[in-house]
This record gives sequence, C-alpha cells and structure tokens, in this order.
Amino acid sequence: MTSKLGLKHIQAIAPYIGGRPISEVAREYGLDESKIVKLASNENPLGMPKSAQEAILKAASELGRYPDSNGFELKNVLSERLGVPTDWITLGNGSNDILELAARAVAQAGDDVIFSRHAFAVYPLATQAVGARAIEVAPTDSYGHDLDAMLKAIEASGDKAKLVFVANPNNPTGSYLSAKEIEDFLLAVPSHVVVVLDEAYNEYLTPEQRYDAIAWVKRFPNMILSRSFSKAYGLAGLRIGYGVAQPALTDLLNRIRQPFNVNSLAQAAAIAAFQDTAFLQQGFDINRSGYDQLTKAFDELGLIYLPSAGNFVLVKVGDDDQAGVRINLALLKRGIIVRPVGNYGLPQWLRISIGLPEENAAFIAALGDILNSAK
Ligand SMILES: *Cc1c(COP(=O)(O)O)cnc(C)c1O
Repeated sequence: MTSKLGLKHIQAIAPYIGGRPISEVAREYGLDESKIVKLASNENPLGMPKSAQEAILKAASELGRYPDSNGFELKNVLSERLGVPTDWITLGNGSNDILELAARAVAQAGDDVIFSRHAFAVYPLATQAVGARAIEVAPTDSYGHDLDAMLKAIEASGDKAKLVFVANPNNPTGSYLSAKEIEDFLLAVPSHVVVVLDEAYNEYLTPEQRYDAIAWVKRFPNMILSRSFSKAYGLAGLRIGYGVAQPALTDLLNRIRQPFNVNSLAQAAAIAAFQDTAFLQQGFDINRSGYDQLTKAFDELGLIYLPSAGNFVLVKVGDDDQAGVRINLALLKRGIIVRPVGNYGLPQWLRISIGLPEENAAFIAALGDILNSAK
C-alpha cells in the first residue's frame, strides 16, 4: 500500500515490527490471556517496581497540568549519580526518542549514518526518517559489531558520515564489546562524526563487564550515551529514557525535542525506580539464573545460541530460512510469544526474552515438544 502522498524516503521505510501484545495473541488463537507467556520484548519479568507504582499514584493527582518540561527533579537525581551537570542530560520519550533526536540533530539528506548489521531496528528507522543514507556494516566473523569494519565504512564515507550507532550489549544478538574495543573506536572516529553508544541493557552487565562510559562522554564531545528505563527498571509502558552528552550536543537535542516529550507519571516513576537498588539487584539476579536455565535447556536440546550480555537470548531453531517463522507460529499456538528476527536478517533464529523461572520453563517445555514432534 503506497500512497502518492509523502516523501519518497518516508515511503521506503519498512515499519517496525514489535513483540505481539498478549491480548492480540489471545484473540487470534482463542487463548486465555492469563495463560499466555510473553518473552518477546525484553521487558522486565518482575514488572514495574512497587516504588514506581506508588510514585505514579501520588503524581496522578497532578495530571491536569503539563509535565515539567525540563525534568528538573529527575535530572537532578541522574546528575548526582552519574556525576555530570544537569545540562549534560536529555530526557526522552523512551531512549528511542534519544536515538531519533540524535539523527535529526546531525543528519539529513545527503549524509551517511553507519551502524552494524543485526543491530537495533530503530537505527535504520531513525536514519531513513531524516532522509540520510543508512550504511549497514556486516560483521565478518560474528554476530556482534565489527568496529574495525565500521571505522573503514566511516572513512570511506568521508565528510558525509555524520552519525554512528553502537549498541552495547547489542539487541537482538546480545553481543558485548569490551571497554578497550569501545575506547579504541571512540579515539579513531573522526571528530565530525557523532557516536551514539546505546546502553539500553547496561544494567545487566556483570561487574566484570562494566566500564565507565560517563568518563568517555567527558572526553569525547562527539559522543551521546543513551540509556533506558524500559528494561532493567521495568518501566517500558511509560516510555522514558535519557541521553548524556556534553552541553553543546545536549543543547541541540533539547532544541528539537517536543517541549513535553516525557510525561509526569514517567518522570515520577523514573525517579523512584532509579533509586530502587533492591529492585535492580533482584532483576539482575533473576536474569542471571534465567539465562542459565534457558541456555542449559538449549544445550540439552542441541540448539546453538549466542552468548548474551542482555536480558534475552538468540537461539537458532533450524537450518532453513522458514525455521524462525515456523517455530514461532507453533509457540504462539501454545500461548508462548517470542520474537522472530527475520527482519534483522536472522530468519533461522528466535530471540527469547528471559522471564521468570516458570515462564522460562513453560517456553522450554513448549519448544522441546515442538522440536520432538517435528522429528
Ligand atoms: C529496547 C531498546 C531500546 C529502546 O528502548 P526504549 O523503550 O525506547 O527506551 C534502545 N536500544 C536498544 C538496543 C533496545 O533494545
């Protein structure tokens, strides 16, 4: 369905395909909503923290008023913990907003935006929306980012290169880049190219994997760090994330954002969730044990999976290019929603968000059943 109206580069955009909502799957397959297990959108299986629920209830009485356009209180809390002044912070309607603001602030028709193949689907969307050219760099020997190849692509693009997206950990592959790899990359990228380091899953890194990204923001005026409240903080439905960059770049992002891009409930909930270290720890622990539970089952089923630093695992469910779609459909009929990743160029794989122990178990049982009955 192509309209005669609108810009060509907008018509060319392939729509984002999200995880299917529980209600929709229940209707389509005649299932009981309460029995459906959704492991499709990397949401926090613990749901929203209680502390955030309470903050929302309190803030609800003020909903007749516009939100604080500058997010004063939340920025203060972030500023204190992160060790940057508040004018280094941009709040976003989800970190998705930050990614789009970055694209709109620095790229337009005639420019190039560089990112990895099998990286987050919003990078091509944000690029195409501003009419820039997307340069997708295929990793040579892995499913992660090939930063050397990305550097070559940036060099080849020359003055046209304006923006590069790097996700660590990456979605949907779960791949992880070490501090040394990222730092070498930041040092090598020309200063006229903005680097977005997307850390939507940062909180799931183990202590050994952690690094100081804020120190890089302080060193590199062309860097934007992007973080989310949707995953580890359990606030996906509220839409809130933030960007950290030096004031000049932050100023640009704030000029083009909607004045009230982050609603009052999201701000109140984020303040509570950000300080709820017990919730974060509980989510971290449940994610580690869920990862072990899933990968042990994959080993037993003889399935290949990619080591993941996030709250999801990519597993190969067959050798033909229909495998992902086929197994996904069989899972849906059993009330299990996972994520096919054919749109990421990975049609033989499924991405499984790590859930509660019983949710993981339900998925494992269904998958085992499906694979056995196909033999
Ligand atoms: C989920 C995700 C985001 C965006 O999440 P928001 O809900 O918009 O904050 C950003 N980057 C990656 C890699 C993601 O997987």
